[in-house]
Amino acid sequence: MKYSLSNKRTIDKLLSDAGFTFKKSLGQNFLTDPYVCPEMAAAAADSETGVIEIGPGIGVLTVELAEIAKKVIAVELDERLRPILAKTLADYPNASVIFSDVLKLDLKKLIEDEFKDCKRVTICANLPYYITSPIIMSLLESRLNVESITVMVQKEAAERLCAEIPSREVGAVTLAAAFYAERELLFEVPRESFTPSPNVDSAVIQFKIKQSVETKVKNEKTLFRLIRGAFEHRRKTLVNSASASGVVSKEKLTSALVELEIPLTVRAEQLSLEQFAVLADKIDD
Ligand code: SAM
Repeated sequence: MKYSLSNKRTIDKLLSDAGFTFKKSLGQNFLTDPYVCPEMAAAAADSETGVIEIGPGIGVLTVELAEIAKKVIAVELDERLRPILAKTLADYPNASVIFSDVLKLDLKKLIEDEFKDCKRVTICANLPYYITSPIIMSLLESRLNVESITVMVQKEAAERLCAEIPSREVGAVTLAAAFYAERELLFEVPRESFTPSPNVDSAVIQFKIKQSVETKVKNEKTLFRLIRGAFEHRRKTLVNSASASGVVSKEKLTSALVELEIPLTVRAEQLSLEQFAVLADKIDD
């Protein structure tokens, strides 16, 4: 049987039959807008794609992905959703669920073991907002063999992740995302599109993973430590913020900036990723 999984009455019935109540602590806001999931699925997959979904909830996005993709594996933390997902995914033999914390799962191994027969692998999810950044950063940093990541996040996080560099909207996470991927904000989703309705709007973003690193740097760890330190105290200059956070001494950073002819008053948000990389190389000298 196929369910209208974005229909509020269907959602209420499925949840009440299973005695399920929402857990705010798990970021459980389920989509009720029928247009969002088909659009996300179309942006993330085709018939030769294997998709990893994070947090399927009752399966509203999972079924749209399963309609289009070759194979879908969803990772859900909340075991209470098991009987509901068994019902809603019953007609989709190409979709399955692993009950686990996505941050503890070996996704590299999952991709190697489960998607051998797929031409490409992508990630698609309406992310639990309480762990958006850790999930996105761990997906990017672990250099998974995936082509793209299409996710719904809080609108504010979407704007920061996709901000133009340099600009006032940039944060450490913007530069990290830009290091690994081409970034695009696809569309916005108002708060009324969920049950229960969160108190923020959302947006769907897409990262197309760069197949080779464009930003040349001797030591990526130094680059990311410098970026984190530079943004730790946003109101301070880059020199003061990075030295206060203990990443590098004030003297070393000052002489590197002078050598590169960058004003000492510069703030982190005013530098490009390439300038950060050159600075990181100087610090490592
Ligand atoms: N995909 C559904 C939708 O669009 O309606 C539900 C999205 S809801 C915003 C987030 C989902 O992530 C919930 O089902 C929640 O239980 C699940 N979740 C929360 N933390 C998780 C984690 N660490 N690992 C995997 N799933 C998680």
